[in-house]
Amino acid sequence: MINLINSIKLADYRRNEVYKDGKLLLSNFSESEQMLDLEKTKGNVQGAVEDFYRVKTNIKADPWNTYMQSGDSFETRDGKLLMFDFDWWPVPDMGGQPENWNEVFIYQLKGCNIACPFCFVDKFNNNGKVDHGAKYFTSEEIVDAFLKVRAEKKAQGVDINVFRASGGEPSLVPEQWLNGLKIFKERGLDSEVYFQSDTNLLTGTALESWMKDGNMDADVFKQIAEYKNFGLLSCFKGTDPVNFSENSGCNPEMFLEQFYSFNLLAKSGIKVYPHLVNPNPKTLEGFMDKLAKEYGDEMYGMVHIFSIGMYGSVKGRLERAGVDVEQKTQEWKDNNVRGQELLEEICQKRLGMGYKKMKRFEVIRDLF
Ligand code: SF4
Repeated sequence: MINLINSIKLADYRRNEVYKDGKLLLSNFSESEQMLDLEKTKGNVQGAVEDFYRVKTNIKADPWNTYMQSGDSFETRDGKLLMFDFDWWPVPDMGGQPENWNEVFIYQLKGCNIACPFCFVDKFNNNGKVDHGAKYFTSEEIVDAFLKVRAEKKAQGVDINVFRASGGEPSLVPEQWLNGLKIFKERGLDSEVYFQSDTNLLTGTALESWMKDGNMDADVFKQIAEYKNFGLLSCFKGTDPVNFSENSGCNPEMFLEQFYSFNLLAKSGIKVYPHLVNPNPKTLEGFMDKLAKEYGDEMYGMVHIFSIGMYGSVKGRLERAGVDVEQKTQEWKDNNVRGQELLEEICQKRLGMGYKKMKRFEVIRDLF
């Protein structure tokens, strides 16, 4: 029998592993399956820098030019919709053009409270253990590493203005968001550096309990929300309990925890950008109706579907589990394509505009 995860209990356990004495346990890329993926993407400013950090270009040069020329459209020259609108998030509050927010510095917490079969992190780098070269760092040390890399890249003509905590589950330690934001402000960089992060939306109940028992500041989210240079990708893992369980490795009963976590973060005033991964096309519309009922019809245009990459870690995991990789890749691709088609229909029907045509960064603050 497969053991299904209780994400709330595991969150408790993982937090204690990845956050000790105010320090964060970071993944070491040099000893991971992830490094193989990162090496493939070197060139431009992609790939790993030092062992604990990586840099990334959100939108590569050619589509970028088309992207900028296309005005308010999110389509590339060949008509494909862009996967990310990350570069736009800072623009309303911080100014500049999306191009100013295209280069990113990333660090990764070494632990997560769920187990997505398509996780880009290998199992060692998500296990919460001090192994495979992992080490604890203060937020100051991480910001210092960012500033060092930023200065080096600047000398090469590349501006890195986005600092991202991504992978593992960053919301296990929301203090890292607040500490980073405070440090950037103290150093006079809060109008130059945007802090992005992500969450799997499966920590809400645990976060509530930590706030109640004093394990975490009760007003941590309120404080984070006061910073204009912060945005959070919030990833729903499924449109119904079975789809959710297959996508997260969690007990299907935890399906509603996603909505609970989203509500906690959105209602605190943090700018949350909803994403959805590998939806069940049959239950997608009902899922969207549920969100719209709670937050208003704009939600139909706010949710972006995240496509799944066949990373080295994913392929290895599927092969070890005896899963037919080709078949699984096709299934994920079909759900992604059909999901986007359905969202196009739903957005046309409810909003009179196409999928991804709403500029989320402009409406997000009014919505929640
Ligand atoms: S939530 Fe993210 S880090 Fe955690 S298992 Fe899923 S993809 Fe991996």
